[in-house]
Parts: sequence; structure tokens; C-alpha cells
Amino acid sequence: MRDTDLFQLALGLSSPWTVTRSEFDGQDGRLDLYVDFPRGSRFACPRCGREGCAVHDTKDDTWRHLDFFQHRTHLHARTPRVTCPDCGVLKVATPWARAGSGFTLLFEAYLLALAKAMPIANAAERLGEHDTRLWRIVEHYVWRAVEALDLREVRRIAADETSARRGHDYISLFIDMARRKVVYVSEGKDAATVKEFAEFLEAHGGDRRSVTDASIDMGAAFEAGIKQNFPNAEITFDKFHVIKLANEAVDEVRRQEVKNRFQIKGRRYIFLKNVDRLTTEEKQALSELEAQNLDTVQAMQIRMNLQQLFTMDEKTARRYLDRWHAWVKVCDLAPMKRLAKTIIAKSKGILRSISTGLSNGVLEAINGNVQAAKRKAKGYRSKRNLKAIVYLIAGDVLAKSPT
Ligand SMILES: [Zn+2]
Repeated sequence: MRDTDLFQLALGLSSPWTVTRSEFDGQDGRLDLYVDFPRGSRFACPRCGREGCAVHDTKDDTWRHLDFFQHRTHLHARTPRVTCPDCGVLKVATPWARAGSGFTLLFEAYLLALAKAMPIANAAERLGEHDTRLWRIVEHYVWRAVEALDLREVRRIAADETSARRGHDYISLFIDMARRKVVYVSEGKDAATVKEFAEFLEAHGGDRRSVTDASIDMGAAFEAGIKQNFPNAEITFDKFHVIKLANEAVDEVRRQEVKNRFQIKGRRYIFLKNVDRLTTEEKQALSELEAQNLDTVQAMQIRMNLQQLFTMDEKTARRYLDRWHAWVKVCDLAPMKRLAKTIIAKSKGILRSISTGLSNGVLEAINGNVQAAKRKAKGYRSKRNLKAIVYLIAGDVLAKSPT
């Protein structure tokens, strides 16, 4: 077997394409493969598919291919233009690359696999390519896949925001609870992002009136957005956000108290952890603090009692929540009273999370992955890049490879 036959097999080329010659430069570690077709070959018209069109002329092209072992590999071919009696003179699509790409499909597939696992900058270094060229490939496939998303079956959604950069710059993620994937990413975190999502949903075969449930945080923006844009969606306030809000109230009590009582300083973490997660030493410290009847301890008990809610069935939870509220509203801790007021105002959606079992847990996990990717990439040059990566890793839009 000749080396060209071997490469022919490795490339999976079929008639009329053959590998005619290979050049190996040991010094540069570079392999060049020349692919050609025999004189007189005919091709199908790339527009109408008519077979047997004659070649009009050719143009020399080069593609970066997957490395053979450690050797950078390039494919060279003269790309024909054919004359179709109906369509005129058109460039033929080569079977190993998409039109206009300087990379073969296999190379692009490899890059997309890398992009799910590492920042593009690292992939660029590994592949010896400039990262803007690689971003162009990633974006091409991601946006094409997003364009093709089929959202007909979307019934239950969850939304959350995640920071795009340091500071107060956000993107909002919308997930389809059934497939547990991000199906829409938008810039900002206001009610307008929900409207954008409703429009995107309908542009992809979905129907806003078919959405029955929306799991969101207790911020006013998403709630207003859901009410305005999803007329049949029941709102669920997810457990994670309820506890987060309660933790913030506890922390506010602690900060007020710490001004007067130095002994709580440096003990913040104790009050934010569940008791069964504390170390022996932390438990000891906690019981000493409890003996002093601190406000912070009381606030923490209120928070832990609230958390109990999520272990009950809906009917029990409803009665329990009323008792909890009656207790908290007469305590002396302003942040906890404010918390109780909010919880009661939102109790319908909170209790609904118990009956439907909907939670943003999957979104929290997705959020964690997005933030980890962002940290590894040391940030993204643009929100568009970040959005593409979110679709890639949390939307899994490229579950199918391009080859
Ligand atoms: Zn044609």
C-alpha cells in the first residue's frame, strides 16, 4: 500500500477525490496532503443537485486538518467551479470542509469537543491557531444550532441571572425544565429579558400560552416579566432563593450586632451553615454564643425553622408557614420581620415549589459550570462570546458533531 492510499483511507475520501501526493517536512513537523480529481471528472451542481456538470475552472485552496500524531497537517486541493445549465457557474462544496472555512470538518469537530472542556485561548495554544479564528468556528456552529432549536415542547421553565463580568453586569439564563438545558440566554436581568425569551420561544415553534410553570427568584423583575408574557404560567419561588434571602436577613442581623459585640467577629460562617455541617469546635463556639442569647442566634433559628418548610407536604407546610410568620412578626429583629413579610407575600409561589417539586437546583448547577468556565477563561472578550459558551456547555446545542 502506498502512503497516499493510507492517507486516502484516513481522510475517508471517495471518488472522484484521491490523495495524489504527500510531503512531510521533518524539520517543521508538518505534513501536506495533496488531493485532486482526475481530468474529465464531473460534479453535481451545488445549488440544484443536477449530476454530471462539467468543470469550468478551479481555485487552489488549503485547509488545516487534524494533526497526524504531532504533525500539523494541511490539505491542499483545487476546488472546482462547475457549469450548470440551469444555475450557471458555481463553486463545488468539497466533502471535507464547509464553504469558506479554512479548516476541515474533522478539525472543526475536534475544536468543538475541546471548547466544551477548556477555554478557547487554551485550545488556540494547543492547536497553534489564533483564537479569533477558532471563535469564528465555535460561533458559526453554536449560532446555527441555536437558530435550529426546537422549543415546541417547552412547558415548564426556570430563569436565573448570572454575572457576566466582575461588577454588576448580568446575563439571564432560561432553561427548559424537561430537558434540563439552557434554551435561551439574554443580556441583562430585567422584565424585558423575559419578553425576549417569550418571543424567542415562539420563533422556535413554542407557544407562550402553553407554558404552565415558571420557577424564578423573588426579585420583582422576573415576576413581572412572567406575569406579562406567560399568561398561563404559575409562578414558583424556588427553595434555593428563599434560603438565600433568609441568609441575607441573618447576615444583616449579625452585622448590626457585631458593631456592639466583638465576639461574633470572624464567626460569620457558623451562622450560615446548617448545624449538622459544623465541626465539633464550631458547635462548641455556637453553643457558647447561644448561651449568650444573641440576636444572631435567634435570627439563625428563624432561618432554620423556615428551612424546615421544605421537608413537609404542602398542606402541613401551609399551616406551618402561618405559625412561623406569627412567631417572627413579633420578634425584635427588623431584618427578620422584613423577611417574614416578603415570605408571606410570596407564599403562594413558595408553597407551589413544594407541590410541584420544581426547583432551580439544576440552574444553580448550570450557573456553577458557567462561572467555572468564565474563571478558567479569565473572562470573555464580549458577552456574545460568553453567550456562545453558555449555549455550548449548558445548552448542549452541539450534542451532535458537525461531521
Ligand atoms: Zn444547478
